Amino acid sequence: MKPTLQRPVIVPESLSTPVVTPIMPSVVYASRTPDELDSQYEGRAKGYTYAREGHPNASVLAARIDALEGVSGGIVLGSGMAAVSAVLLGLTKAGDHVVGGDQLYGRSLRMLAEDLPRLGIATSLADVTDVAAVEAALRPETRMVLIEVVSNPTLRLADLDGIAALCKARGVLLVVDNTFTTPLAVKPFEHGADIVLHSVTKLMAGHSDATLGWVAARDPELMQRMTVFAVTTGMTASPFDCWLAERGLATFALRFQRAQDTARRLADHLAGQTGVARVLYPTRPDHPDRTRAQGLLQGQGGNMVSFVIDGGRAQVNAFAEAAKGIAFAPTLGDVGTTLSHPASSSHRALTVEGRAALGITEGFFRVSVGLEDPEALIACFDDGLSAARGA
Ligand SMILES: *Cc1c(COP(=O)(O)O)cnc(C)c1O
Repeated sequence: MKPTLQRPVIVPESLSTPVVTPIMPSVVYASRTPDELDSQYEGRAKGYTYAREGHPNASVLAARIDALEGVSGGIVLGSGMAAVSAVLLGLTKAGDHVVGGDQLYGRSLRMLAEDLPRLGIATSLADVTDVAAVEAALRPETRMVLIEVVSNPTLRLADLDGIAALCKARGVLLVVDNTFTTPLAVKPFEHGADIVLHSVTKLMAGHSDATLGWVAARDPELMQRMTVFAVTTGMTASPFDCWLAERGLATFALRFQRAQDTARRLADHLAGQTGVARVLYPTRPDHPDRTRAQGLLQGQGGNMVSFVIDGGRAQVNAFAEAAKGIAFAPTLGDVGTTLSHPASSSHRALTVEGRAALGITEGFFRVSVGLEDPEALIACFDDGLSAARGA
């Protein structure tokens, strides 16, 4: 038998085309001639060269998220934190100053507290529900303000429009991490954001099986700088993860709607139960930012509910153990409902007083509502509550 060579790769001929994006894990792309390679590098022809620099599955996914956020040229990266890093590290230099919301995602806070200062970039935190507090934090050398529209886990609403106007007037970039809210509740570019980013890992991919991020800037020059930085620092997304996320995105709107409807029901149910001290849900009449939520999120509350039960660690343990159908796990946006306890997880590094200042006590739980049957899910919470009452 004549030995055959591995290359060129055989792509079976088909006049008809697949209805699902193929997975293309190729790390490297072959060109026929140096002339053809030149034409690609010089932008006269489209094409891929090396997967760290870009690959088809990342391009396809990025374009789909671009369409949701109403922008073009966004990039998909290996995680939500890669997206945060591309902005915070890719667009700043020593001597700059960055302002962050004081209830940002924990790792973003850590980057502001540890990594930027180590590189000579000063940082401050501000209460983003209050534009005056953000204004007070600005300095002549402030380069950007990073906010989330709905905070974790207390679900407070940032004054997005006020902060956007302030940033515009002061020539400061406004960066919005839209992971919690998603473009189905708010499109930050329409409110004046310069840069929007996502942890695609969460609601968009939606199945807790792919870790990815996305970032886009309105200004093509900023976008180009982040793209080059991401390639240089190796923030590449896996083709298979991109493919999973694209599949997840196909049901994103349906999942979001369902989870949000159940979240509203769950919040209203919990508010009427003995042993529940407080319920936080953006559209409820007892939420401190309900008016802003009505305007900014167009009456949508999202899929996150927080609540506080009476008692201490014994009651909290009893609740988590008895609510058996709910994964006690610190993530969000999954098809299944997840429960997190900030005092022992995301906010454990804070002192009791530090947590209390944010309204996080031992009895505080955060729920990411999934797609379960609403009645069955509510029954599960009732099991947890009755166990807590008996503990
Ligand atoms: C999870 C999360 C991130 C980080 O995303 P990863 O994909 O886990 O790196 C950033 N911001 C918010 C709001 C998040 O919830």
